[in-house]
Amino acid sequence: MTSAFEGAMKQLDQVEPYLGKEYARGLKLLKKPQKIIKGKVLGHRAFRVQYNNARGPFKGGIRFHPNINEDEMKALAFWMAVKCAVVGIPYGGSKGGVAVDSSALSREELKRLSFAYADFIAPYIGPWQDVPAPDVNTDGQIMAWMLEEYERKTSQQSPATFTGKPVELGGSQGRIEATGLGGVTVLKNYLNFLSSKKLSNQVTNIAVQGFGNVGFWFAKLASEAGFKVVAVSNSKGGIYNSKGLKIGKMADSFKPNITNAELLALPVDVLVPAALENTLTKDNASAVRAKLVLEMANGPTTPEAEEILLKKGIDVLPDVLCNAGGVTVSYFEWAQNLSGYYWPKERVLAEEKKVLTTAFANIYRVVSQKKISYRQAAFILAVGRILEAMMLRGRI
Ligand code: NAD
Repeated sequence: MTSAFEGAMKQLDQVEPYLGKEYARGLKLLKKPQKIIKGKVLGHRAFRVQYNNARGPFKGGIRFHPNINEDEMKALAFWMAVKCAVVGIPYGGSKGGVAVDSSALSREELKRLSFAYADFIAPYIGPWQDVPAPDVNTDGQIMAWMLEEYERKTSQQSPATFTGKPVELGGSQGRIEATGLGGVTVLKNYLNFLSSKKLSNQVTNIAVQGFGNVGFWFAKLASEAGFKVVAVSNSKGGIYNSKGLKIGKMADSFKPNITNAELLALPVDVLVPAALENTLTKDNASAVRAKLVLEMANGPTTPEAEEILLKKGIDVLPDVLCNAGGVTVSYFEWAQNLSGYYWPKERVLAEEKKVLTTAFANIYRVVSQKKISYRQAAFILAVGRILEAMMLRGRI
């Protein structure tokens, strides 16, 4: 089985032929993170991987999950650097996490863990150094606790050190739904650009795997936009109704009537993996019957699975574009914190849509010109931008 980081590096290798020879050394440098911070937090393995900061401060989420390891952290940090470059926001990439089953912790234990992790990474983060945010099993409350500990330690207010905070503590309007909204914006652009050759708004049935922050908001906003969401799932299983689900009213605790494996193979138009990496692999990709895979999770499709999907004529819209709405609004949050001037929600969401629409148009142009996959096009643009910044700084 290809590890997440091996998969990420394969994706990088695939774009090498499209980049100038002058970047060969830079590409080699991009195969390693700039810094790996690791240790123990309250007895649990903890990490912060700072991959690349050529384009701006490191930026990336914090994950609490029992299976976290260094390989996964490196892959996620690399994808963050690529993602920020895809949408042209001035950040590098990083990722952090604690190997813990946070569902088994009481609220008080979760708070202590958040304080302890903030303590652990405090010397390495800051508005112009590295800016964390929520990821799997972390949320605004956890960012609030980490901010409190960081500010206590540094004896200053520093809201721009964390994004994804509650609005009361300097969080941005619209951040909660931002990642889902970005995915729906990308889907609409894809349908418009293709002039609905393959799919149309009216008939688009969608299955969403993962019903957390990203999956829920994607499903809710997609159904509000007129798409028919027929299945969603969480780690316990999925719920399917060919007539469509009422997403707005659904809690995470639904009674499953299909397995996750069955959800991935449903006869839908669009399949949206929104849970974890390595969901679509060489073992299950041939079973996919969707016409489009829209990646909302990070790294849900292995390179081998993508090859199978593309051969079957299934387009794959990559994570580094589809879920970039989250970091885009995190960037707006950081900018609002630094300026002390807060935007209304309408402005946040309108600017987010603009950023994603421009990114899609740029990628689509490269796809059409070079007849390559959406992921390759996104990587050519993004890695080119990172390498250019490294070159300007004299790192290569
Ligand atoms: P979350 O913790 O809020 O939700 C995760 C969901 O996935 C839950 O419903 C969980 O039950 C489900 N899940 C876990 N394991 C599963 C499995 N094996 N099969 C099916 N479902 C499973 O996390 P999130 O913030 O929604 O993040 C989901 C993905 O999106 C991750 O890959 C994350 O890195 C990525 N992402 C998140 C953001 C963000 O703003 N939160 C931004 C960009 C990318």
